[in-house]
Amino acid sequence: MSNKKVAKNVEIKNIFIKSNSNASSKKVYPLLMDKLINAGFNVMNEFDSGCDLIISIGGDGSFLKNVHDLEYPDSIFVGINTGHLGFFQDVIPSEIDYLIDCIKKSNYEIQNILPLQANIRTQLRDYTLHSINEFAMKGYKNKTVHLNLSIDNKHMECFSGDGIIISSSTGSTAYNYSAGGSIIDPRLNLIQVTPIAPLNSNAYRSLTSSIILPYKAKVIVTPENQHQNTTIFLADAIQYKYEKLYSMEISYSKHKIKLMRLESYKFWTKVKEKFL
Ligand code: NAP
Repeated sequence: MSNKKVAKNVEIKNIFIKSNSNASSKKVYPLLMDKLINAGFNVMNEFDSGCDLIISIGGDGSFLKNVHDLEYPDSIFVGINTGHLGFFQDVIPSEIDYLIDCIKKSNYEIQNILPLQANIRTQLRDYTLHSINEFAMKGYKNKTVHLNLSIDNKHMECFSGDGIIISSSTGSTAYNYSAGGSIIDPRLNLIQVTPIAPLNSNAYRSLTSSIILPYKAKVIVTPENQHQNTTIFLADAIQYKYEKLYSMEISYSKHKIKLMRLESYKFWTKVKEKFL
């Protein structure tokens, strides 16, 4: 199953630039704006639904923040990397001319990134959150968490330890990887549940490796009753805490993020460069 498809010559006219505040990003911003205007594009002062392309200047963290701030927009994203390696970015600042040329000639593919969705039930009300990389459940003030994990309505385990990461394929190279989870090829949309420092003793038994589930799996995490108020919830590292938390159901969302990929993009080359 591939989540890449060839672009059908989408004409890009309106471009919004979103930059982080790093010194290198601040230098790229005016240069990029001048070059886009000279190439005949409309550079928008403010984002609105007429935007065709969002150019994110920064690292992966900035890309995630931009998607959350703009509330999962329909526009295409492309990244100029001023952070570290940058899994979401295709070019570095010295390649701006190449990027503009590819946009003008529609010489790119669109990678659809599928975010995760969490439906959260508390005593007072229900909430919905989205994340691109992962959701993580951890203990408030670093306390041990005790979480019941069920898959497709079957109870799997009562996990005890630092926490659980529920990662999308996109997030497999992020927190999931640091916690010992597997890297998933972006052509596969899978859900990965990865333990963080699981407890294994005479008192507690938890799975010690990650488990990988199909796209449509229904993953429900329920804190043990006495720990309902001591579990925190992270969506791409943005922290939430709920009183009287009953359960969190995680699945893939109906949203999709459209990421422009240029010819030079190779996922496994990035993996090799970043991790080996
Ligand atoms: P952040 O500083 O924005 O990001 C932490 C690191 O994770 C950065 O080096 C970032 O790359 C990298 N990263 C983010 N998404 C990635 C992806 N899909 N593949 C590979 N690397 C990726 O930290 P934050 O705002 O707290 O959290 C943002 C994300 O960072 C979270 O969603 C989580 O996945 C990850 N994170 C990782 C750890 C860990 O590994 N122990 C801990 C907390 C959070 P750039 O340098 O290019 O920005």
